[in-house]
Amino acid sequence: MVYRLISHFLSHSVAPRLARCLLCGDSATGNGLCAPCSAELPYLHDACGTCALPLPRGATSCPRCLQRPPSFSSASAAWHYAFPIGQLVQHFKYRGDLAAGHSLARLAAVAIEPRDRRPDLLVPIPLHWRRYWSRGYNQAQLIAVEFGRQWQLPVHSRLLRKRSATETQLQLKRAQRLRNLSQSFAVGEAVAGLHIGLVDDVITTGATLEAAARTLLAAGAAQVSAYALARTP
Ligand SMILES: [Zn+2]
Ligand SMILES: [Zn+2]
Repeated sequence: MVYRLISHFLSHSVAPRLARCLLCGDSATGNGLCAPCSAELPYLHDACGTCALPLPRGATSCPRCLQRPPSFSSASAAWHYAFPIGQLVQHFKYRGDLAAGHSLARLAAVAIEPRDRRPDLLVPIPLHWRRYWSRGYNQAQLIAVEFGRQWQLPVHSRLLRKRSATETQLQLKRAQRLRNLSQSFAVGEAVAGLHIGLVDDVITTGATLEAAARTLLAAGAAQVSAYALARTP
């Protein structure tokens, strides 16, 4: 089923069937949006080079990363998590709107393509199997597959495994959340010496990325970079 979903997801790019813009209904280009709507998306230009946190114009590092750098070496996000990106991501994630997901992944792949220091492979942030079952797909995996296709990088979807459901994490304080999360991933393949590109839909606190990166580095990975569609403030 996963295989069918991925090929369905990618088939949009082989033969674009999205004649109408997802946002305004006008005729769309191959990426599912019309040119004016694409141009108005809230692209993230000024951000922390390490964690992608939106920053004032000209600033390149956020105070938190300067004080205590995270385990991952860089993070890139294509957009601010703001209208209409937030709405499109929600539709993709919770309502099975694969067309929205595909458009976003395709546009983001162009916006944040790694030019130098490219990762050796891409790894989506996994979902716990229970959530995977109820949703039917992992949105991060579909994004990673599109990034991998455009960046010509292999995608290892089973390299990281989610150990325990973390639905309750939102209620915990950040420090406690980090402690819990660092035990929540397991590495299932050899990663020694590799530069891993983690892929997620949205970066919020960065706690999930930090936990996944720590797990990968502890397993011998040389470096971890992160790529996402959007970043919250
Ligand atoms: Zn439009
Ligand atoms: Zn930062």
